[in-house]
Amino acid sequence: MSVALVTGGSRGIGKATAILLAQSGYKVVVNYLRNKMAADEVVNTILSAGGEALAIKADIADELQVMAMFVEIDRAFGPLTALVNNAGILFEQSTVETLTAERINRVLATNVTGYFLCCREAVKRMAYRHGGEGGAIVNVSSAAARLGSPGEYVDYAASKGAVDTLTTGLSLEVAAQGIRVNGVRPGFIYTQMHASGGEAGRVDRVKEALPMKRGGQPEEVAQAIVWLLSSKASYVTGSFIDLAGGR
Ligand code: NAP
Repeated sequence: MSVALVTGGSRGIGKATAILLAQSGYKVVVNYLRNKMAADEVVNTILSAGGEALAIKADIADELQVMAMFVEIDRAFGPLTALVNNAGILFEQSTVETLTAERINRVLATNVTGYFLCCREAVKRMAYRHGGEGGAIVNVSSAAARLGSPGEYVDYAASKGAVDTLTTGLSLEVAAQGIRVNGVRPGFIYTQMHASGGEAGRVDRVKEALPMKRGGQPEEVAQAIVWLLSSKASYVTGSFIDLAGGR
């Protein structure tokens, strides 16, 4: 049976992806940082529908916690076959001229280093050269990587640019090792993330300016992620799907 880890699987896009993966037959690990109750709720939703799931608390920016999480997954479910690098953070909307080194480093530690660390541990388990049977990785980037988020969070946008480069580079590095690496770039999706930027209603503010005149739902992003992980996307690697309503 396929084993999937969804980082930041306790809410938003990660939650929708974890539930859809379970419905598609994966054993699912729901990673979270602080909100155990929310992670347990996702696990219970999966279990009560007859699936298999486990919640693991780990800060993806912390190397030792990431390594311990993968060991726990090995023990509970066996080696990972699918990774969704999804947990991401942003802070209050502001201009570059007001950013502190502390804030920039926090964003990069989670959104970039965290993605690298999870990719590293996944590759060690999936690659043919390590005795693995291959696998698939999806990195959740953002349309911000293309648009730059001026006046809001250029630090966050730049971290997503790095995620895109990680996706391209790693996809080429492990293509012959049975591992496919792809990215999704959501646009304005209805989740709690916008409250972290200080504007919970951000999607509704901008939606009229979007070509499709609406924000997106987490489930619409999850569909693309699950497809990219599936055997239906068996010849797809180093690719990106934009889910931004035409933006
Ligand atoms: P969200 O609702 O804010 O959820 C974030 C999730 O990440 C939560 O489960 C949170 O866990 C977890 N998390 C945060 N920091 C973590 C860390 N250091 N280690 C482990 N888990 C951590 O986010 P979302 O809107 O669903 O976004 C998911 C991904 O999509 C992110 O990478 C984001 O950049 C990207 N994205 C979102 C949008 C959008 O419009 N929403 C657009 C483009 C891209 P706790 O609750 O336990 O803290």
